Amino acid sequence: MLVLTAILASAGDRDPVYRGCVEECTVGCGQTLRPTWSSIGWSCASDCEYGCMHARNAERLALGRATLQYNGKWPFVRVLGMQEACAVAFSLANLAAHASGLRRSWSALRAAGRRRAVWREFGVLAVHGWAWAALFHARDLRWTERGDYFSAILFILAGLFTAVLHVLDASGVRNAVLVWLLRALCAGVFAAHARTMTRSFDYGRHMLTSFALGAVHALTWVAWWTRARRTSATAWRGVALNALAYASAAFELLDFPPLLGLLDAHALWHASTAPLGHLLWVYFVEVDGVPPDDQTAALVRELTI
Ligand SMILES: [Zn+2]
Repeated sequence: MLVLTAILASAGDRDPVYRGCVEECTVGCGQTLRPTWSSIGWSCASDCEYGCMHARNAERLALGRATLQYNGKWPFVRVLGMQEACAVAFSLANLAAHASGLRRSWSALRAAGRRRAVWREFGVLAVHGWAWAALFHARDLRWTERGDYFSAILFILAGLFTAVLHVLDASGVRNAVLVWLLRALCAGVFAAHARTMTRSFDYGRHMLTSFALGAVHALTWVAWWTRARRTSATAWRGVALNALAYASAAFELLDFPPLLGLLDAHALWHASTAPLGHLLWVYFVEVDGVPPDDQTAALVRELTI
């Protein structure tokens, strides 16, 4: 989802040969752009940048020089108009994992009480977030970027709220008013962030907010585990899946030019979270689908066998 590289200025943009190519190309705008591209967000100018980027990159590689980034991105090969085809495919794989989990939870979580509603909210916001990610990776435009960034914050907040509710359940706190206040607090955090970012988008602040919320989210599942392990011998799996989902962001550190112009570190990160999303739903639907009394009975059985 979040693209760290886009924040940084790119070395390729300062290359005088590349800049000259773009200037010359845009003079003749309107003659070379295929009509189908414009309908999916390609303008003549962006098509010129794409063509010049690949031409210049080929020249540099022929001279034995390193591949550079242009406009905050590596030179990806466009597939059916999509800028980052692998990242789109893996974003859709994540979307499918959460959509399938949401469907699986629909009837299986009847006995889960208020947790059922929370998992539904989480599932819907997960599908929403990955749909924006696919759109953004298909075409990096101002509105797709904002949609991706804001929906990612919503997704993290939904995960955090789900984790907090599990902590309350595991602690025996049944106060419905408190749950609604916490839900309103999450909505307020999102509204405040979106308001600030809409006025003046600050990438650094946005990333900091994302990482801070992500860290609190991960720690909240650890807090849940310290209580849930008394009644569930498999509670560690829930924590491990969430921890792995955050740890997989380390793929971003590999930042390398895309293999075959398609597969980069960001796409690998998205590839790694799709199976984790699937396993998360499998685990929690199984655990939360069992009424609390039956969970205690199951643990007693496990311990006495
Ligand atoms: Zn992404």
